[in-house]
Amino acid sequence: MLKPSIVTELSQIVGTRGMIMGQSQLQTYECDGLTAFRVPPQAVLLPETTDQVQRILRVCHRQQIPFVARGSGTGLSGGALPGEDSIVIGLSRMNRILNLDLPNQQITVQPGVINANVTAATAPHGYFYAPDPSSQTVCSIGGNIAENAGGAHCLKYGFTVTHILEMTVVLPNGDLVTLGSRTPDAPGYDLAGVFIGSEGTLGIATEMTIRIMRKPETVQVILAAFDTILAAAQSVSDVIAAGQLPAAMEIMDRLSIEAAELSVHPNYPACEALLLIELDGPEAEVNLQMEAVTKICKENGAWETRLAVDEHARLLVWKGRKAAFAAAGRLSPNYIVQDGVIPRTSLPSVLEKLNAMAAAENLRVTNVFHAGDGNLHPIILYDRDHPGEEERAIDLSLRILDVCVEAGGSITGEHGVGREKQCSMSYMYADPDLETMQRVRRAFDPLNIANPEKLFPTPRLCGERTRGAYAPHPLEASGIAEVF
Ligand SMILES: Cc1cc2nc3c(=O)[nH]c(=O)nc-3n(C[C@H](O)[C@H](O)[C@H](O)COP(=O)(O)OP(=O)(O)OC[C@H]3O[C@@H](n4cnc5c(N)ncnc54)[C@H](O)[C@@H]3O)c2cc1C
Repeated sequence: MLKPSIVTELSQIVGTRGMIMGQSQLQTYECDGLTAFRVPPQAVLLPETTDQVQRILRVCHRQQIPFVARGSGTGLSGGALPGEDSIVIGLSRMNRILNLDLPNQQITVQPGVINANVTAATAPHGYFYAPDPSSQTVCSIGGNIAENAGGAHCLKYGFTVTHILEMTVVLPNGDLVTLGSRTPDAPGYDLAGVFIGSEGTLGIATEMTIRIMRKPETVQVILAAFDTILAAAQSVSDVIAAGQLPAAMEIMDRLSIEAAELSVHPNYPACEALLLIELDGPEAEVNLQMEAVTKICKENGAWETRLAVDEHARLLVWKGRKAAFAAAGRLSPNYIVQDGVIPRTSLPSVLEKLNAMAAAENLRVTNVFHAGDGNLHPIILYDRDHPGEEERAIDLSLRILDVCVEAGGSITGEHGVGREKQCSMSYMYADPDLETMQRVRRAFDPLNIANPEKLFPTPRLCGERTRGAYAPHPLEASGIAEVF
């Protein structure tokens, strides 16, 4: 419970309109896109300036109040899930585009700016912002930075980290720092690289300068229909092995095709597996590449290869793919979207194993994924009202990650670790690896108040899976915080 004097102090910073304390309003903030985990926060603060964020964090630091930054709350790993004793700092009111610098191909924005709005602001000038999570019409740039978000087009253009040049960050003690640089190759440690993907555990980004790119001369997308997901996966490996680099290569299985049809009617071919390949660049080059990838798909058994005839058809193809997670709600009242990575060449064998695991649990799993990156998104369908089914779905989703690690992959490609996958971290990393990461965290946040109990395994939440990785810093344990 926040002391009345602290409530007064915080409300003086953001004004009464910027502070939420009512129980029913707090419910909006009790979870993110991973709705299986819910905790109402003590309070929600909605700052509008960097100065307000600094003043809030100074109070949190002085009073040792844990805080959780929140963008749009679309995260799928429980990253913005509040702790029982924490406050949420919502960045949605910091949503202004501050500067568009076309000669240097840069734009400076506040963290609450919605991803798609960056492209919308730059498109009239012939530019776009490349990282395109399927949630891009809703998720914020601040949340993208914290999760190092990806998207279909990151196969060619790289993840968020490739596109962030410089950030203004408020540290957990309220200090202001600039990480990264607007010009390339600044000397010293790559602290911007450390911050990007740190899931709100190192501070709050309040301003960012990001790279924008010239729109390609031509964009073409082809749909290839297969009888098996294994044949579609093999085509992906063969396209890359042939030296082609499409802008995007995505696979959807039959269930996710059906869900997309019910939801946004993209008019996909009815098949067991659909491969979407987008190529972009100079027209002559794209035409040649299109011939090559079409041939590869046919050699792997594609019985229909359909080129989107115009921009309207191309956008409809993507609308169907990007609606796939949300459309899973048409198949089942509840679902978990998992996010593991495997080497591309292991796609066929791992997918077979996952299907067998789902069948053994009598749970339906649909697959839609960034095939070019080997980034799987198995969607586990379940009904919370059936006793024990949610627990089995969560357990299956975590065992899927173990399979990804065993195949030489990772427990997350883009959705982050958050609360959901923190116990799987010790399956992927050895204790010295985790301890090194903890030291970095403590250097930024010695009091452990920035999004605590996320990202790393803790004894309370992970029990035996902790493997000692969360041994608290000796000075932290004695209550004397120190930056080593
Ligand atoms: C339908 C759907 C499709 C999706 N598709 C994709 C996809 O294709 N690719 C992908 O990568 N993700 C995808 N996601 C997941 C999600 O949209 C991304 O993780 C996104 O980056 C989260 O942004 P957000 O603004 O909603 O952040 P939130 O969920 O609010 O927060 C996410 C994390 O960022 C931290 N955070 C937020 N703002 C800041 C800040 N300013 N400074 C520091 N930390 C901060 C939070 O503490 C939290 O840990 C999808 C989600 C949904 C619901």
